[in-house]
Amino acid sequence: MSARDRFLAAVRKHLYPGPEAGLWNAACEAPSRARLREIQQEKLAAAFDYLFEASPFYRRRFEEAGLAPGSIRSLDDLRRVPVTRKLDWIPDIEAHPPWGTFSPLTEERWRDHPWMIFSTSGTTRRPRLFRHTTHDRDLWAWMNARALWSYGVRPGEIALNCFYYGASVAAWGLHEGLVRLGCPVVPGGAMPPERRAAVIPYLRPATILGTPSGLLTLGRRVQEQGDDPAALGVRTLVCAGEPGAAVGPTKRRLEALWGASVHDDFGCTEIAMAPLGYTCRAEAGKTDGEVGVHLMEDAVIVEVLDPITLEPVPVGQRGTLVVSNLYSEAAPFLRFDMGDWIQLRDDPCACGRTHARAVGGLLGRNDHCLKIKGLQFFPSTFEDAIRSIDGLGDEYRVEVRAGAAPGREDLEIIVERGPDVALTEHCVASRLRGLIGITVAVTLVEPGRLPRSDGKGVRFVDRRAEAGR
Ligand SMILES: [Zn+2]
Repeated sequence: MSARDRFLAAVRKHLYPGPEAGLWNAACEAPSRARLREIQQEKLAAAFDYLFEASPFYRRRFEEAGLAPGSIRSLDDLRRVPVTRKLDWIPDIEAHPPWGTFSPLTEERWRDHPWMIFSTSGTTRRPRLFRHTTHDRDLWAWMNARALWSYGVRPGEIALNCFYYGASVAAWGLHEGLVRLGCPVVPGGAMPPERRAAVIPYLRPATILGTPSGLLTLGRRVQEQGDDPAALGVRTLVCAGEPGAAVGPTKRRLEALWGASVHDDFGCTEIAMAPLGYTCRAEAGKTDGEVGVHLMEDAVIVEVLDPITLEPVPVGQRGTLVVSNLYSEAAPFLRFDMGDWIQLRDDPCACGRTHARAVGGLLGRNDHCLKIKGLQFFPSTFEDAIRSIDGLGDEYRVEVRAGAAPGREDLEIIVERGPDVALTEHCVASRLRGLIGITVAVTLVEPGRLPRSDGKGVRFVDRRAEAGR
């Protein structure tokens, strides 16, 4: 038996199609932490041997680290595997177009079991291409269906999927999950925004999927056409592509607008296109405090490392998110640094799941983190503070400019006025100073002045490089 066949057998051994009750199956969702570790180690050992056998890129890195087939058998062994970052793949793709050699997929296997090819755009000369097989599609469908079940989506309910069915892996993964769960799907990603809003009162979808920015905009469009979004029977919003669903004030704004429960779903094109993070109804139902987003740990290994030393940080501390994929035939990559800040808790959840939770979801990209006056700020810090001030509008911008010296940057926050017409710039600035601990300039603008987004919103503008122009 080849290493690939042993890997695929290890993955399939732990597929529980259910149902014990729908798509809940305790063997996946609620094993003890010790049993979860056993499942991870079994798949990890098989994934390592598969990469060693079939990926020249990984074999070279493993050999440089002194590893041989059979070297990695436990989570402790995993620390011997070098961490890979996005840029590490570029020279390999340049030297071996179009696929590079990091994927262990053979030409023969690809020809016999193809599904789809996704690409990332970016500043590099060649796009990074990701092939996925029918095995990968089936695993995406299963994992996404489990996440959708966790959100409370049920078979037979109509779902409006507002993600664009282009290169967006979220659109396809969630689509396959909805089909697997038995939900009719309205592919709304390519509809003009007005039509998307107009179909909701007619089709009455129970579930709407989109970015938090897009779903705020969509709800406002529904209001503009004279309907109340909260009265149209939408039960569940599934949010991906932005962190807002785990940011309390944004989540509450969406809940109030749609009268629905709001769930965070996150992944990563390179390594975990099926949901890596997914909320449960216990977490989504919290009325205060930070939302914990479960990590599908029977299918991935998550490490939280210091971004400089790459040493593990204690549970509860922030670090960079490093993921090993334990399910994909085309991309069983080990120790990929996603470049996102994360903070975990692994105590039992009220929902019964034993999978660890990311407190507040993904906290922001390592390279989007700002250090101002000795304090560290994530884009979500501003989102949380601004949206917690009742009476302001939905849209805002944060602009950072070079100040008199490094660490003395000037911040300007531009916010649309909302229902509370008595709020002044001085009053908002003073509230923000209390919430985030630094002085910021505030400009209030009339509603509709800032651009609306039907997809990912751009709310953080870094103008430090423009100094002196
Ligand atoms: Zn839970």
